[in-house]
Amino acid sequence: MESHAKVVVIGGGVVGCSILFHLARFGWKDCVLLERNELTSGSSWHAAGQIHTISSDPNISRLQGYTIKLYQELEELSGQSVGLHSTGGFYLASNRDWYDYLKRERSKARYMGLDQEFISLEEVARLHPLIDPKRYIAALWDPLDGDVDPSGVTYAYAKAAKKLGAAYHTHSAVIETNQRSDGSWDLVTDKGTINAEHIVNAGGLWAREVGHLSGLNLPVQPMEHHYLITESIPQIAEREERLPAGIDYEGNMYFRQEGKGMLLGTYEPVATPWSVAGTPQHFGHELLEPQLDHIAERLQLGFERIPALADAGIKDMINGPFTFGPDGNPMIGPVPGMRNYWAAVGVMAGFCQAGGVGKCLAEWMIEGEPEIDVWAMDIARFGDYASPHYGTIKSTENYERRFMLTFPNETLPAGRGQRTTSIYDRLTARGAVWGDGFGLEHALWFADGPDDAHEEPTFRRSRAHDYVAREVKAVRENVGMIEIANFAKHSIRGVDARRFLDHVMAGRVPAPGRISLSPMLTPKGKLYGDLTIACLNEQEFLIFGSGAAQEMHRRWFESHLNGFEVAYRNESSRYHGIGLAGPSARELLSRISRDDVSAEGFRFRDIRRTYVAGVPAILTRLSFSGEQGYEIYVEPEYQMKLYRSILEAGEDLGLRHYGARALMSMRLEKNWGVWTLDFRPDFTAAESGLDVFIDWNKDFIGKQAAEQERERGPAQRLVVMIIETDDIDVSNDEAILKDGECVGYVTSGGYAHHLQKSMAIGYVPTALAIDGAALEIEINGEMYAASIVAQPLYDPSGNKMRN
Ligand SMILES: Cc1cc2nc3c(=O)[nH]c(=O)nc-3n(C[C@H](O)[C@H](O)[C@H](O)COP(=O)(O)OP(=O)(O)OC[C@H]3O[C@@H](n4cnc5c(N)ncnc54)[C@H](O)[C@@H]3O)c2cc1C
Repeated sequence: MESHAKVVVIGGGVVGCSILFHLARFGWKDCVLLERNELTSGSSWHAAGQIHTISSDPNISRLQGYTIKLYQELEELSGQSVGLHSTGGFYLASNRDWYDYLKRERSKARYMGLDQEFISLEEVARLHPLIDPKRYIAALWDPLDGDVDPSGVTYAYAKAAKKLGAAYHTHSAVIETNQRSDGSWDLVTDKGTINAEHIVNAGGLWAREVGHLSGLNLPVQPMEHHYLITESIPQIAEREERLPAGIDYEGNMYFRQEGKGMLLGTYEPVATPWSVAGTPQHFGHELLEPQLDHIAERLQLGFERIPALADAGIKDMINGPFTFGPDGNPMIGPVPGMRNYWAAVGVMAGFCQAGGVGKCLAEWMIEGEPEIDVWAMDIARFGDYASPHYGTIKSTENYERRFMLTFPNETLPAGRGQRTTSIYDRLTARGAVWGDGFGLEHALWFADGPDDAHEEPTFRRSRAHDYVAREVKAVRENVGMIEIANFAKHSIRGVDARRFLDHVMAGRVPAPGRISLSPMLTPKGKLYGDLTIACLNEQEFLIFGSGAAQEMHRRWFESHLNGFEVAYRNESSRYHGIGLAGPSARELLSRISRDDVSAEGFRFRDIRRTYVAGVPAILTRLSFSGEQGYEIYVEPEYQMKLYRSILEAGEDLGLRHYGARALMSMRLEKNWGVWTLDFRPDFTAAESGLDVFIDWNKDFIGKQAAEQERERGPAQRLVVMIIETDDIDVSNDEAILKDGECVGYVTSGGYAHHLQKSMAIGYVPTALAIDGAALEIEINGEMYAASIVAQPLYDPSGNKMRN
């Protein structure tokens, strides 16, 4: 065994082998994979091998498309059959909601370059004569779907990697991972020790145990999963052509041809987490005892929908475990807070996803960033709050919802209340309807008390609509208060604080007591943050940003500290707080502050350490609502006092609580995008319009790429659109069309309550990004006229927020 490697991948399942292949393919030498048993000794050997592109996240779908398209080439490169059957497959809807969902999927597929089309139920019956088409109302066809041989795929990745110069060793369990002071890792096996610059945890079923070797607690959980294989079915035996694959959403099940029979898998309504305390080390090419009663109900549904199954004998019943993460998506990338430690865990659909996971991780390791935004798979979307216990609860929920519909306005119930603030009960009593982000509860909107605090999941406008409207009205006309604990706060302290920020931020770093907005760019000029920089003094800055992305940004800041005398801390949990906004915000603030908070005494974009409501606070003059507004940050123990004081002081000013939905509505009226939706690493500063904040007179990460783009002009641009609709708004990922052709897609949108207009933000080719240009947006399969508005329709001069 080698004594040194550039990278060691731990785990020879489909994920580890794909990573090894991609690292070697993209040019890294000295890449080694260690497998404790034979390759495929975890989940990979007993998978059903069904492949499809559909996923909740468009970029994951795109990567699933990449994975599937790679198979033929992989077979050629490796000389190993992957057993690919490109039968095509359909997604079947048995009710109206699922039909709407499929229409949305097709809309996404349009811009992802995936070739999905609706086919008639007669066509379904023709392609798959065993299905009873009367049980369905619609079918979406994807020619990429089919199945593969799981072992063949795993070995093909490994063999192709070997041909490209990488090595893999079986029967080489990693029993220790010890980090040296230079950041490299010693991986101890019973065959010797390898020193590696980087390690990748691709431990699959044992991801938790591999993590523990390095002190990492991962919130992933293996789940039991069943599928059955029937004996030969005469109608199939008679056919020459292979049957297509299928997913029945309502039945939460998938099926395909296997031999001359069929394979049917189902995600049972009550899931069984497996080996909660830890995966046994001795577990290998083994299966679990089938629990027929767990899946009986779903099988019955399957028999009704594919009647031939009811008469077929069952040849095999498989119950095998595979690992889920808290939101069902993979967790990949550099682990925040660790050096040279990479994760590729929680990959629950390895044969659909491993190619994309391997590609992105290899690009990330070699080039410093993946080609496309992988936020939906980034391990940094979770933080400490995502404990192993939380992982079990959420993974169970996601397993049970595998093919279930989540509506745009729906929040999932499991694992809630993981993080709450001191005023949680007070807000609940006022009718808060809660959402959660990064494990922290935040109010979405306020009903008329707790009994009224409910909302039915829907693609259309919900009952929350009118409540949000009155919150917006209060902010636009009087004053509103919103809890802002969920914003991220990063502190940068030290003698080099300004120099550091000048380097990592593309925008101007403000003077003491002032605030500026700034994009943060990758070396390739992609957006990596849309942040608010606040200078408390020359050696102390606070950066406000997306709460969801706090660990992602922490990782970025920490990885650039070298060469600067600065200390970084994620202080998001240290500061909670309340925002005030509206024409009477200043009046309210003046009642609970001894400071001069007049327009001159405390200007727009000022910040200061002071006292508000008699408690220590960091006061800023900003609001994402576009109104005169203030954000008051206090340590958690002061928040209740602050809250009570604001309530009291605002009583005669028409003060109303408002939530995230109202804020998101008001920012649309100002043409402002948000991180994770409109601003993300898929886009550049010039494309997003955030280049207006760039300080071109200094050096910063990504400057060269940004300058080059400035010279040639961006290929696409963010635009804001008004849509002609009555009772439905965009959520995101809808196709934007021009003359019937898909030209872009929606990144966010909703109803602008003050303007009383439905609005959307999205990206279109630069040539089409013209004020007033007419476009179409596809929502739930219907085309709606849309027109671009270049200037904010609400307070375009910005006087309301500045005065
Ligand atoms: C019943 C069933 C049906 C499925 N059907 C499908 C399907 O139709 N389509 C689909 O896409 N996916 C399917 N899956 C999921 C798929 O199998 C997994 O997503 C995939 O196998 C995960 O691969 P992995 O490489 O992450 O993990 P694993 O396959 O678990 O591999 C991890 C590897 O790491 C090794 N390892 C662990 N610890 C160490 C150590 N300390 N040192 C060295 N090596 C170590 C293990 O021996 C193992 O080989 C199914 C899963 C099951 C259980």
